[in-house]
Amino acid sequence: MCGIIGYTTKSSNSVDVALSGLKNLEYRGYDSSGIAFYNNNELDIVKAKGKISNLDEKLSKMNTTSNCAIAHTRWATHGEPNETNAHPHHVGKVTLVHNGIIENYAALKEELQQAGYTFNSQTDTEVATAYIDYCYNKCNNKLQALIDACKKFRGSYAFNVIYEDEPNTIYASRKDSPLVVGYSNKGNFAASDVSAILDYTNKYSLINEDDFVKITNSVVTFYNDKLQEVSKEIKTATWDANQYQKNGYDHFMLKEIYEQPKVIQDIFSRYYNDCDYADIDFSNFDNIHIVACGSAMHASLVGKYLLQTYAKIPAMVEVASEYRYSEELITPKTLMIVVSQSGETADTIAALRLAKEKGAYVVGIVNAVGSTISREVDKCIYTYAGPEIAVATTKGYTSQVAIFSTLVLNAMKQKGLLDEDTSSKLKDELLTIEDKLNEVISNRNTYLDIAKDIYNHNDLFFIGRGIDSTVCMEGSLKLKEISYMHSEAYSAGELKHGTISLIEDGTPVISIATDPTLFEKTVSNIKETKARGSYSIFVTTDKHNDMNFAEFADKTVIVPEASEFIQPILVVSALQLIAYETAKLRGCDIDKPRNLAKSVTVE
Ligand code: GLU
Repeated sequence: MCGIIGYTTKSSNSVDVALSGLKNLEYRGYDSSGIAFYNNNELDIVKAKGKISNLDEKLSKMNTTSNCAIAHTRWATHGEPNETNAHPHHVGKVTLVHNGIIENYAALKEELQQAGYTFNSQTDTEVATAYIDYCYNKCNNKLQALIDACKKFRGSYAFNVIYEDEPNTIYASRKDSPLVVGYSNKGNFAASDVSAILDYTNKYSLINEDDFVKITNSVVTFYNDKLQEVSKEIKTATWDANQYQKNGYDHFMLKEIYEQPKVIQDIFSRYYNDCDYADIDFSNFDNIHIVACGSAMHASLVGKYLLQTYAKIPAMVEVASEYRYSEELITPKTLMIVVSQSGETADTIAALRLAKEKGAYVVGIVNAVGSTISREVDKCIYTYAGPEIAVATTKGYTSQVAIFSTLVLNAMKQKGLLDEDTSSKLKDELLTIEDKLNEVISNRNTYLDIAKDIYNHNDLFFIGRGIDSTVCMEGSLKLKEISYMHSEAYSAGELKHGTISLIEDGTPVISIATDPTLFEKTVSNIKETKARGSYSIFVTTDKHNDMNFAEFADKTVIVPEASEFIQPILVVSALQLIAYETAKLRGCDIDKPRNLAKSVTVE
């Protein structure tokens, strides 16, 4: 959500570099963009609604020679996405780009209005800009002004600030929104994440919440809030810029779907070779709370199902934004598992902080190394899925499911619920998942065929029982996110309690039945929809190959049969590709669906 990049350099190409970095942050989601730079001591602020290419076009007609630029993609929270509200904002001597929300902006605005400030935009950010200026006028010290203003701000922020009387220096700070510093021979950066700067450097430092940073073209200095210098580790990013390219695929989403076989195989290999779950002893806890948002919450539902079914451990899954309303249930005997691809999901961060306050032990399942969640949990289990650029997650979700599978296997071992024979069979299966997944994703023609059947409908149902019902939720979300087609995921047995009234002649129903013990019941539910005219798309495993599907299915998708520790991963990959092909036929912007952001850094 929102991207920031600031660059100060000994050369004069700061605008070009900042703009190219901003393009690498496009995946985070945005609705407008802007850049500020000083050219011969004259401040230029250029903004554009919509795509960065609109900003690019405006800049191409200007002289953009400058040693220092701060740039921003905005995901509007306060005020509509227009040029006035777009960042950078400029008040007095201060120019600012901001990611996050200043929650107490209304009170601060009043204070500033009484001091004579006036405002042009509807944003909280313009108030923050004015407040920093207000503090600067009082103390006449740039770092101190930022420190004083930050002490006043409630909410979340990542800031890049330029002061008029020092136009080649960037000041930066953050709270609950990501920001890193990057170092290169030609100049230095402050950006939302390392992907923005990988074309120029792989050397970076994380900015902590109580750090205030002064960045010149040759020196970066970190201070604490008492203006004392603090030392900082310089890290080397292990990803390369290539991982941020489509590498011949039409979309990042497709590339990431195709990366799943290796990513999942690697997770299971790591589990069997150097797994370190010793400090997650399930017997130490009275209750387990799994907390996440969106697809990560769907992965959590698979985790809960596996934990209960195979390790006989009850667990609760809660969406992060609702978790605080279960506050009374959190105790020092609570094991909380938080799940977030980016590790920056604001709702999840708020939930984990609440649980830690109450003394819970918190485990994180996270992809982004060094992210806020990875740093704040008691134990972080990385998925190591590599950068995920498409806004709609694919390998992010399946890698989380795979981690849950390993956690549950570990819990079963701890409880003596895994005999040697089953354990070795499961190991053989898990370590060969790559082939099975490749088989599923190579079936592209089937998915395209189904997409052709459904793409001109506006409503669709996913139904299933048991673990399949959780997979339905993810399949439905994927379709909604990228094709803008409305769909609902229902437990197959629940449809007749109301929703079946929506089934009309031709309404597509995608049903999933992988579990042999639930197969017949699900087929009965499919027949109930068929009797009311549904167009039935049936997803099952090759175990049922000998059945006559024609009785209740207009189209069938067959995936390899597997244990429930990996079956959801196989099925969901087929659903991801159905969503992908459908969105493509509907002409949607697959990697950057409207209104969505990749890492949701506001609550
Ligand atoms: N709250 C700010 C605004 O609406 C910043 C939003 C963002 O993170 O892009 O302008």
